[in-house]
Amino acid sequence: MLVAVSTSLLRSLCVVDAALTLAQCGFRTVELNYAGLLRCSDGVPEAVSRLRRAVSRGEVSVLSIHAPYTYVVKNLGLWNCSSPERLAGVYWSLIAPIVEAAEPRMIVVHPMHVKAVANPEEFTLTFLELLRDWALASGTILAVENLVRGEEPWSDVGRVAELARSIGAGVCLDVGHANYARQGIPEAAEHLLRHGLLVSMHLHDNDGSADQHLPPFTGAVEWRRLFAVLKSYGYRGPGVIEAGCSEPMAKCLNWLSLLRALKPFLKELRVP
Ligand SMILES: [Zn+2]
Repeated sequence: MLVAVSTSLLRSLCVVDAALTLAQCGFRTVELNYAGLLRCSDGVPEAVSRLRRAVSRGEVSVLSIHAPYTYVVKNLGLWNCSSPERLAGVYWSLIAPIVEAAEPRMIVVHPMHVKAVANPEEFTLTFLELLRDWALASGTILAVENLVRGEEPWSDVGRVAELARSIGAGVCLDVGHANYARQGIPEAAEHLLRHGLLVSMHLHDNDGSADQHLPPFTGAVEWRRLFAVLKSYGYRGPGVIEAGCSEPMAKCLNWLSLLRALKPFLKELRVP
């Protein structure tokens, strides 16, 4: 497995500084979380320029961009857009500069669930179809992620798989979300692999009581059974460690040391 790490490990930093710190600490391949762009004190255009320079110099390699969360969209006042076309247009305008600067292999997106509209699932479908087209035109692909309990129907991996298949996108299996949503993780991975839909994974852990985004092997996820399924299909795709740390930097850097020790095991799909 190609092991990468999300900039959400260093949540208090501007996304560019987080990516460079991760690269200097043994994780040159990263996923950029859009939320971290809002923490760049030099402003978005300058941060995107710094990102472009770091990528072109080979200081960091961007596997994927995690598109804005629902709360980011709400905070930016975009939630009450009248149509999926308008929401998708504004949403794409947020990520397009980073896509152009970082040249990621994929864009990971949450299925937008606007409950206030007459047909929420049709809204989501149209929204994602537009993003899929613009992603392809930018030389990247769209990966739809399964969400947490309480965000039905998209906490159901089977439903997310069906959504992704219907629009010709891939799935990013979020292992922590699946654990919290009481989805059988090995079975979910097997389903996605059998249908050729698994393009990435978010690797993090929890004890089942909340979406805790802990480092792998510090919660209740059945990693051994998941690895067995991935091995049986010869999975060589990416696994992005999506532990989230917004606490004091000393703690987040300790987690980073722990993850560096874990990396060879994840790479070989072995339990430490
Ligand atoms: Zn995730």
